[in-house]
Amino acid sequence: MSNVKVAVVGSSNMDIFCLTDTMPEPGETVIGTRFWTGMGGKGANQAVGARLLGAQATMVGRVGDDRFGQQMLETLESHGVGCEYMRIDKAVGSGVALIIVDKQAENTIVVVPGANMRIAPADVDTAADKLRAADVLLMQLEIPLDAIERAIDIALAGDTLCVLNPAPARPLPDRILKKVHLLTPNQNEARILTGVPADTLEGAEAAGQALLERAAQAVIITLGPQGALIVRPGQTLHLEGIPVNAFDTTGAGDAFMAGLSVALAEGEVLEAAARFANMVGALATTKAGAMPSLPTRDEVEAFARTLAD
Ligand code: ADP
Repeated sequence: MSNVKVAVVGSSNMDIFCLTDTMPEPGETVIGTRFWTGMGGKGANQAVGARLLGAQATMVGRVGDDRFGQQMLETLESHGVGCEYMRIDKAVGSGVALIIVDKQAENTIVVVPGANMRIAPADVDTAADKLRAADVLLMQLEIPLDAIERAIDIALAGDTLCVLNPAPARPLPDRILKKVHLLTPNQNEARILTGVPADTLEGAEAAGQALLERAAQAVIITLGPQGALIVRPGQTLHLEGIPVNAFDTTGAGDAFMAGLSVALAEGEVLEAAARFANMVGALATTKAGAMPSLPTRDEVEAFARTLAD
């Protein structure tokens, strides 16, 4: 186990799944076939992922004063994620995602961000020492941008590497792009951020260049089964995807981010960190779910040995 520190400022959600033969039409009630819940939210997934890979992980965020919030805190704590900067918000509910999946595996999702959208710069201020002491600050876009920007400003006053996973995509001011050390969109997010179709390798490269021209210091575009593309001034490098029996790709992006930040926190250079993340992402596709598919350090190391053989 390494002793590096990863701080996550981000979201947590209770994911509520309903399986049904047919998707209900507006005004229609259908009888479902299965129901289950799972912990989610990109922030919580990435914090747990980093912890499972051996980092000390701390999460800054908010849950509602309800049963889902309690379950989220218990889950984070049971994984060993530090929750001293998780606030219980009495005014709104915990973040919830209602996911209806039909027989064709099509899904319809309603996300109610709840407490996540009330994470404020003041929440981040209370964790300032922790952010400055972290090796890596990891953020996503499921919380308000002013809290993200405050976290970056605080981290930059220390020696903390700032990594922004711009997911789900939304317009970002150049001011924020300029501040973060590393931006990590998937192909769809890269397209939304730049307007450049990033669905091919060439397209992804062009989108990465467009982000560099706009302000970003370094970009990694994740390419699903095609691996990842590192784009930084004067260097573009494609890391091939690792062939696996992909079973469920949910959470692959979160696993990749966890791997990337832990390896960077351990002092790896960008290319080595991305290679490690590529293994973590691939491994996550071999199991169902988001949080339950996040691999441990031992699992990643065992997987690496099979690749080396
Ligand atoms: P997201 O889950 O955010 O859409 P991607 O689909 O790009 O992100 O996946 C993130 C990472 O997970 C990829 O960069 C790759 O390392 C790994 N990955 C995803 N899907 C596969 C797959 N089918 N085979 C191997 N690796 C995969």
